[in-house]
Amino acid sequence: MDSTELDALETQLNSCHDCPLRDGCQSPVGWFGNPHSPIMFVGEGPGGVEDDYGCPLIGPSGQLLDKALWSTNMTRDLVLTTNVVKCRPKGNRTPTIEEGRFCAERWLDKEIEIIKPKVIVALGSVALHYLGKPDDKITRTRGTWFKTKQGIDCIATFHPSYLLRLAGHDQVTAKWHVFYDLEKARAKVLESLPDYKFCSDKPLNLFELFKKRS
Ligand code: SF4
Repeated sequence: MDSTELDALETQLNSCHDCPLRDGCQSPVGWFGNPHSPIMFVGEGPGGVEDDYGCPLIGPSGQLLDKALWSTNMTRDLVLTTNVVKCRPKGNRTPTIEEGRFCAERWLDKEIEIIKPKVIVALGSVALHYLGKPDDKITRTRGTWFKTKQGIDCIATFHPSYLLRLAGHDQVTAKWHVFYDLEKARAKVLESLPDYKFCSDKPLNLFELFKKRS
């Protein structure tokens, strides 16, 4: 991984105004974590908290993701998190497939090219559709492996925001699905990198690292 290339990409991203989503947000939100990580988690796009702090997956969904990562011996500083779409859609709506493709072909594809992860975890259907399964339902495809167009092993699981919308038994069941999907992803990395350290001594508090922008 060439960190100079990644830094240059971030500078270019910060000045992107290539689509109308840019008008409704403070500025694009890029990636966070270890750029040398062999595992990349791809969500759908920033929400209000992410836009406020300039960090992907830092709001309620991100905090749930952090708990799920911790339960599978991973912490945010030692993995890489990013999104398909870099600018917050107005009203925190889900980005469309077209918006996802337009942005990801400019930025996410380049991130993947530079970082070269061994495994990608698609969080939710926007990422699943962009990364290789445009017609599949997340409920049917999660937990199964496919290859991205770059030839990288990819597994999809539920987006944490979906888990937050569930309640009771449904939520518990879905959380277990996510746990097993993350375990699978971690195990896949260990097949080729048995010594990779995924976990720090304690979960990272992203709010200690990022200050509110507005
Ligand atoms: S959503 Fe993507 S393509 Fe559109 S302005 Fe933001 S960074 Fe650029």
